[in-house]
Amino acid sequence: MRISNLDHRAVIVREEGVIDVERASHGRFPSRTDELLGRIDELRRWLDATNPAFTSTIDAREVARSSALGPVVTSPSQVFAVGLNYRTHAAEMGLTPAAQPMIFAKFASSLAGANATFPLPSSRTDWEAELVVVVGRGGRDLDEEDALSAIAGYCVGQDLSDRELQMAASPPQFSLGKSYRNFSPVGPWITTADVVGDPNDLAIQCAVNGATYQDASTRDMVFSVAEIVAYVSRVCELRPGDLVFTGSPAGVGQGQRPPVFLRSGDEVVTTIEGLGELHNRAE
Ligand code: ZN
Repeated sequence: MRISNLDHRAVIVREEGVIDVERASHGRFPSRTDELLGRIDELRRWLDATNPAFTSTIDAREVARSSALGPVVTSPSQVFAVGLNYRTHAAEMGLTPAAQPMIFAKFASSLAGANATFPLPSSRTDWEAELVVVVGRGGRDLDEEDALSAIAGYCVGQDLSDRELQMAASPPQFSLGKSYRNFSPVGPWITTADVVGDPNDLAIQCAVNGATYQDASTRDMVFSVAEIVAYVSRVCELRPGDLVFTGSPAGVGQGQRPPVFLRSGDEVVTTIEGLGELHNRAE
């Protein structure tokens, strides 16, 4: 099952059309994705039992490129991110991965849709393709064995990063430098965990103006999705709709020799195997 936030409404996306969840269920389910994510199993049972008709025949390809596509959730209670979670990326940044996950926040007001534009606050704005976890049931003190069952699904994420602000303080202030307006595109939909299978076996790419800079696999993470989610849950209660950006592989602009940063008009395309694409352009 794929769930998008289209025109501010939760829709199930199929190849030939979409189902508006609130309308098709006559109000049994909410219209916002945020409130739906703790009820994925119930939603799936309802879908199987009622087999509702499409509420619109917009197809999946049109949904993915729609300007009406919002972030997969709009008001998560928490948006976590992991720094340096691929060894090759840590090396290109001149840093060593820590023995424990390095967690920071991306603030919720930076969330954006799959086709949103974003500003360039400085001449050192950079890209980071990332697999994003969308929390379902959530909870506290999850074991690694239970962690994946607490997840509703996954989507493509882009952890846009203004290196100038990020590195302006010492130690670096990751959270603020990665939270400008529209600096956290997530989409184009949530693919539910049952469809994804192993989240640590997906190809991940980022291209800028058609040139591929990042090309890796989520297999190369230092800490797996299950390890990250369990680790965070030992401190913070994970709630339905919370997001976790799981880190970016090698090939960011800062890591190029010489470094390459985004310029006005550049298009950043972020792709994850089976999850879709983001197309975000610098203003
Ligand atoms: Zn990142």
